Parts: sequence; C-alpha cells; structure tokens
Amino acid sequence: MLVLDDVTVRYGDRPAVDGISLDVADHELVSVLGPSGSGKSTLLRAVAGLQPVGGGRVLLGGRDLAGVPAHRRGVGLMFQDQQLFPHRDVGGNVSFGLRMHGAPRAAARERVTELLALVGLPGAERRSVGALSGGEQQRVALARALAPSPQLLMLDEPLGQLDRSLRERLVVELRQLFGRLGTTVLAVTHDQGEAFALADRVVVMRDGRIAQSGTPVEVWERPADEFVARFLGFANVVRATVRGAEAATPWGRVGVAAPGPEGERSLLIRPAGVRVRPAGTGLDCAVAGRTFRGEHVLLTLRPDTGPELESSVALRGAPEVGDRVGAEFDPSEVVVLGG
Ligand code: ADP
Repeated sequence: MLVLDDVTVRYGDRPAVDGISLDVADHELVSVLGPSGSGKSTLLRAVAGLQPVGGGRVLLGGRDLAGVPAHRRGVGLMFQDQQLFPHRDVGGNVSFGLRMHGAPRAAARERVTELLALVGLPGAERRSVGALSGGEQQRVALARALAPSPQLLMLDEPLGQLDRSLRERLVVELRQLFGRLGTTVLAVTHDQGEAFALADRVVVMRDGRIAQSGTPVEVWERPADEFVARFLGFANVVRATVRGAEAATPWGRVGVAAPGPEGERSLLIRPAGVRVRPAGTGLDCAVAGRTFRGEHVLLTLRPDTGPELESSVALRGAPEVGDRVGAEFDPSEVVVLGG
C-alpha cells in the first residue's frame, strides 16, 4: 500500500534518509525505531509531503506522490509539533480537517461524535482543550488525525509527552483501535517498548538507513547486528570465535544452540541466559550491581576474566552486591550476530 523505493532526503549535502526501501501492507502497523538523529522524523515528513524527496519514489496505493501536496496525499498526521488549536474547543479541533475538506456541517458533527466515542472521550465536543490532561489531548489529536479517514495514518512520537503508565495503556488501546478500524499505520518512536507493543513490524534505523526490519519477536530474538542489540538494551555483546555449537569468548567457552555463521563474530548472550550458580561453579564472578526490575532482578556480574555481564534472575534468592557467585551460560539464549 505504501512503497518507499530507494528514498533519499538531504539537508544540504548530508543525507538524513539514505536510500531507504520499505513496503507497508494494507492494515499493517509499522513502527520505525531508532536513536535520536537516525532520520525517523525526516522519513515520515517525506512521506507526508512536508519534506522534499531528493531521490527515489514514494507510492501510496500505487500512486506516485511526487508533486502531490501534503493535504492531497490522503495521509493523516499526528506529529509532536502539531499542537491542538487552543482557541477551538475539542469538537472544533477534531472537525478541522473535515471542514477543510468541505464536509457539510451536520455530517462533520456526526463524525466528531463518532470519533470522540472511538478515542474514549464521548461527549467532549464543547470542552476547552486547555482544560484537558495530556492523555486526553493526545486522544483529541488522534481523533483529529483519524477524522478524514486517511488511507495511511502517520504518528511521530505519538505518546512521547505522556508518563509511562498512561503510555503503556494507550499503546494497547491504540493497537486495538487500529485493528478494529483496519487503519494502516506508520509510527515513529525512540521508545522500544512502545514500538514493540504497537507494531506488527519494527524497522530499526541507523544513520538514515534500515539496520533491521522484522516482527517484534524476530527483532528481539535475533537482532541483526551489534548496533541493534545494543540499541535494544542488551549489554552482553562481545567478539567471539564461533565454531559449530561452540564459541570462544572472553568469558571462556560458550555453547551456541542455534547454528549460524562461523568465525570471528559478535555474540550476544541475553541476560536470562547468564545463570547464577554457587561460587566455584562455572565462571567466577563478584556481584557488582543489583537493580530491581519488578518480577526480576538485573545483576551486574564482574567476572575474574572478561567484561562485566548482565544477568537476569528471579527476585527470590537473588544474591547481594559483594557476593561471590559462579556464572553458567544457557546456549539457547546465545545469539550469533551479523556484522
Ligand atoms: P530522528 O527523527 O531520528 O531524531 P531526524 O529525522 O529528526 O532524526 O534527523 C535526522 C538528521 O537530519 C539529524 O542529523 C538531524 O540533525 C538532521 N536534520 C533534521 N532536521 C533538519 C533540518 N531542518 N535541517 C538540517 N538538518 C536537519
């Protein structure tokens, strides 16, 4: 439905988006994820028609969007820098796009009622936007973006301003809502939790290019390379020599369950795969840090040889900082990375 074909966008000489090709299917929810400055917003702005494309093509429903102005592209936008209109009430904000597109007043009013119910703000038409909470304002912005029934909805850090618990709740609601409406969504976020919870597919960007594209499970289980693994927050990444089902690492020999590429490689050991044993078993370590993470505890282990290791253990019976422990590795949590 949306096709980006080798799209490049430059500011001056510098490409912020560097030859990106990406297909988004009808009804698909795609999250573009990446560190600040990796080109996510620029990509979205190029699709929206707010930023000229320097090379390549953008097609929506088979139509080349070159030369089509933003308001004629049939895309809905919910961008951070697009504030609600403070002098219009909630209804006036939601109906804005409809009126612009020439919808009759009565039809627009009906649509606004329907949309406010949809985003969980039934009957809020006459409320002033200044009196709404942050979460309510986001819902109004969403209703406004959905009002003209866009072919494609684009969200830029849609929940960026909200606190964590509200964000986690809204993201679930959004996913359900988009599923019900059959909306195709291209969302941009720097928050991996949000991206993974919202999307059918995650696209990780690095320096204007796609570092990895896959389902949340694929990307989480098999990060493409060290950059993606570290971006997802994995710390146990080292160079290793892989041969068959075994890798020589700075922590000694580690079993590898999934056969993959051999030779000099980056190796990831997920924290759940670093098993804590009584001192004297496996790799000798001191517990250097201990962070409470709700259902589990994240330990920082300082081995006698090799760099520090993160280990995720159950809260009950977790060792204390300063304890001596052994570490063993679970081959099923070891991933040989590309690059
Ligand atoms: P992200 O959304 O991932 O944070 P952006 O798309 O905003 O990344 O920016 C990508 C790169 O383009 C960055 O290096 C940024 O500094 C640069 N950039 C963004 N907007 C402009 C602009 N208006 N003029 C010049 N450079 C820009």
